[in-house]
Amino acid sequence: MYHDDTITALATPVGVGALHIIRVSGKDAIEQVAKIFKPSKKLLKTAGNSVIYGKIVSQGKLLDEVVCTVFRAPHSFTGEDSVEISCHGSMFVADSILSALQENIRLANPGEFTLRAYLNGKMDLTQAEAVNDVIQSKTKMSQSLALNQLEGSLYARISKLIAILTQARVQVELEIDFLDDDVPEIDLTKLRSDIEDLKAELEGLVVSGQQGRIIREGLKVSLIGKPNVGKSSIFNKLLETERAIVTPIPGTTRDFLEEELSLDGYLVRFYDTAGIRATADTVEKMGISRSLEVIQNSDYILYVTDGSDSQEEYADFVSGIEADKLIKVINKTDLLSQEEVTKYSDYIPSSAMTEAGIEQLKHELLKKIKLSDNELSSGLLTNSRQVNAVKKCIESLEQAIGSIDNFMGYEFTAFDLKEASAYLEEVVGQITDDDLLNNIFSNFCIGK
Ligand code: GDP
Repeated sequence: MYHDDTITALATPVGVGALHIIRVSGKDAIEQVAKIFKPSKKLLKTAGNSVIYGKIVSQGKLLDEVVCTVFRAPHSFTGEDSVEISCHGSMFVADSILSALQENIRLANPGEFTLRAYLNGKMDLTQAEAVNDVIQSKTKMSQSLALNQLEGSLYARISKLIAILTQARVQVELEIDFLDDDVPEIDLTKLRSDIEDLKAELEGLVVSGQQGRIIREGLKVSLIGKPNVGKSSIFNKLLETERAIVTPIPGTTRDFLEEELSLDGYLVRFYDTAGIRATADTVEKMGISRSLEVIQNSDYILYVTDGSDSQEEYADFVSGIEADKLIKVINKTDLLSQEEVTKYSDYIPSSAMTEAGIEQLKHELLKKIKLSDNELSSGLLTNSRQVNAVKKCIESLEQAIGSIDNFMGYEFTAFDLKEASAYLEEVVGQITDDDLLNNIFSNFCIGK
């Protein structure tokens, strides 16, 4: 998996800016840049962590005046010799320098710089994933979470659990190895309760992983209800009090509109699933099944009515939706009498017109995601890879408990504990599987 050949990529976004940065990393990174840099001898002698000014010249042609930052192994992001060329911010200039470099070295794959940093032990896997999350973060909270993870909060938490698990395993293995000797017998009741404690903590991690995922990916909220009840108006009112996040969302044939906004620093994604109601039209039916999928994947469903829905219409809309996911809103209260509004006792009364109820709605949405600073920095699981590994660890711990309860012998318990350890190690990255690593790093952008 690990290659130390020299790679290069543009590290800044494609487009025009004040500067572009071209990254070069690998065992002969400095020599490769020196081939097109003047004064080249000076570059070759430049100490690590220092900056040198010069010209990029290829085939006798001046391409740009640049500043190179030189890093020498192991003191660089990747752990290899690296050079960052800061050139003028035109794509033409950056491309011409990249082409000149590519006469001798290859273009990096997405995430390859971070992959090398991970393989060189510069960071664990949760930190490597955090690098990407910091880049992709859209709100204050997703940025804080990613930065905490980058600083190693999750790594520290998982490492502590691995240490506890190892201690328990070693105890059991000692018992196997010195069965006939005078080693004092293990206190099985204590061992069992230690494993139970560990399991409980991991279960807590899985639950908070749900919050970590929501902070990272956004709280998914589907808006449902008849046309004209005021769904878009409510969304727009929330937008007015908060910040819209404008991102082009790929895919043109969508049967729902997706909008993002930052609510108190938390990312919320709204899906307007128009046309969700039963219809005979096949094309529309296809659209509906996709809308249903969106609804199923939502954290909250916002059912909006203006009081004109019949019982049947209401039942149609909410059938199959879990009760704890449903938030009901009675909108256009400005047009309703107080008496009519009180009939909707389990609804949030709102008026997109007068803005009444908008704050309460915001509060309801945030209930599910708000975390204290403490929780945020305690090291949360933030993606399904991590959550799945922890779930498997819990299963192995359950088997270990079973082996104790059923007097299966220390060998079985040791085996289960070892397996549990392996799953936890997978979270922080004792991963050697090439496919899995490629999968993780291929989500990165090129140049990272
Ligand atoms: P949607 O189809 O559910 O998205 O509904 P819209 O948000 O497009 O609203 C339909 C119409 O109802 C528009 O003319 C809005 O101005 C109006 N409307 C929305 N909310 C309110 C409200 O709270 N009070 C009043 N009086 N009109 C509203």
